[in-house]
Amino acid sequence: MKKLTYKFSNSSVDYYLAGGISHLKEIVDKDNTIIVTDENIYNAHTKRFKGWNTIVLKPGEEYKVQETANTVIEQLIAMEADRKTTLVGVGGGVITDMTGYVASVYMRGIKFGFLPTSLLAMVDASIGGKNGIDLGVYKNIVGIIRQPVFILHDMVFLNSLPQSEWENGFAEIIKHACIRDGLMFRELESGTLKKYQSKQTLICKLVQRNAILKTKVVQQDEFEKNERRLLNFGHTLGHALENQYELSHGQAISIGMTYASHISQQLNGFKETERVVNVLEKYGLPTYATFDKQKVFDVLKMDKKRERATMNYVLLEKIGKGVVKSIPINELETIIKEL
Ligand code: ADP
Ligand code: ZN
Repeated sequence: MKKLTYKFSNSSVDYYLAGGISHLKEIVDKDNTIIVTDENIYNAHTKRFKGWNTIVLKPGEEYKVQETANTVIEQLIAMEADRKTTLVGVGGGVITDMTGYVASVYMRGIKFGFLPTSLLAMVDASIGGKNGIDLGVYKNIVGIIRQPVFILHDMVFLNSLPQSEWENGFAEIIKHACIRDGLMFRELESGTLKKYQSKQTLICKLVQRNAILKTKVVQQDEFEKNERRLLNFGHTLGHALENQYELSHGQAISIGMTYASHISQQLNGFKETERVVNVLEKYGLPTYATFDKQKVFDVLKMDKKRERATMNYVLLEKIGKGVVKSIPINELETIIKEL
């Protein structure tokens, strides 16, 4: 099985991108491993978990909270997990976050690995070492940056992925193309969601390209001082919208990317807003939306990316080249209200 090793500041991570869950037993010792997954994945792929110690959680972001972490920890104690145990998160972003978080605090830290099963988790959530949980309305407010020991992919899980989750994943893929990969953007313009869903070699290649793109951005800046901020393209407005309206993460950042392109046009001479909007729509994502500008701005100004009187906003210079611009809060308020 092909293995790529990527180094981060304190550790290295083995990537088995052309792997398969049947190879998991070659990566970890079965008796010393506990899988964490959710009901949707477990029910759709039960036979793949046969012979593995497994903790099955309820699906959904509303369970990405400390209470769930506590129940996982109680089960680990009951299963006599110790410092030699490896936790393996098999699931979407909620499961990888929860697994990385619990593994980082249980007995002051045990090893963990990921087998991401959603497109979004494959290209985004499982990469980069951010493991967090939510508290009330505050997303990922508690957590840690700590890398897994391995990431293993198996495209067979995508067979059961709901359509809306495909769209969520494509929102992050389009984001990657916008900030870092103009050629991939062209590929997306000429492709369709259907084509990627029906051709395993195509989606496999696209997933690998995105996983590696994100890995390289994170390697340059693991603790988000500069380069890693580019990954927040569409996310400042996106998070504010996601908090207030019934939108999935992908839908919210898609609207965020649309307006960030407009702001790029105003402040940065960006000329390709239409191409961004067209590609988002092509992959089933929303673009222009009516929203309460004042309310959204009030949430947006509390963003983690704020530094007192300015906000670090990710803009595009051209397709394939994102830049971080520090915008004074009062100027941003005017811009948002005039969108
Ligand atoms: P993310 O979108 O960050 O990956 P989740 O972990 O909440 O977040 O996953 C999104 C939803 O998709 C959840 O309901 C989860 O159970 C479901 N899911 C993830 N992977 C699969 C899969 N391979 N097959 C079916 N459902 C899946
Ligand atoms: Zn995102």
